[in-house]
Amino acid sequence: MDWTRGSHGWQAGCTFGTLYTMAQTRKIALHYMQHASWAALPEDDRELLELAAKAARSAYAPYSKFKVGAALRMESGELVPGNNQENASFPAGICAERTALHAAMAVLPKGVVESIAIVVPQVKGTRPVTPCGICRQALVEQERRQQGPIRLLMGIVKGPVIETFSAETLLPLSFDSSQLAKKKAR
Ligand SMILES: [Zn+2]
Repeated sequence: MDWTRGSHGWQAGCTFGTLYTMAQTRKIALHYMQHASWAALPEDDRELLELAAKAARSAYAPYSKFKVGAALRMESGELVPGNNQENASFPAGICAERTALHAAMAVLPKGVVESIAIVVPQVKGTRPVTPCGICRQALVEQERRQQGPIRLLMGIVKGPVIETFSAETLLPLSFDSSQLAKKKAR
């Protein structure tokens, strides 16, 4: 690798020029719905958002004070709430989305999650909170497990709602079990 001073600052030049000619720029488009308020949604979705907001009130978040609520609607009709559970050993804490997901799958191991609502009642601003990276990974694992997408509804109380049609939408180029297949060592 050679470094040269170009018009845009320092640039790396590679003696293996073919590496550059083989590169392609690819694009991933993110499609989601933005609803102006909960009132714009069907009753089932409003009910799920209400359950998530209610769950947030019981969250155990003495350290961050950032109370998050989640609620799942299973294909079989059950509603499963969850909230964040923090710990003095910070990494031991768990997010609301995974609390709800793991609680559901512990009792319904063949269950299919149709939708998950996520609400942070005391969030600043008007942008709904979206799941952290670990929760996205956990939700994508569940999509693989149930071989179908999970709708996400992320809402500000009585305000705007972001809806995605799958968890994978929020985690493109994700890692999954297909990449664990062992290859012969070279
Ligand atoms: Zn999370």
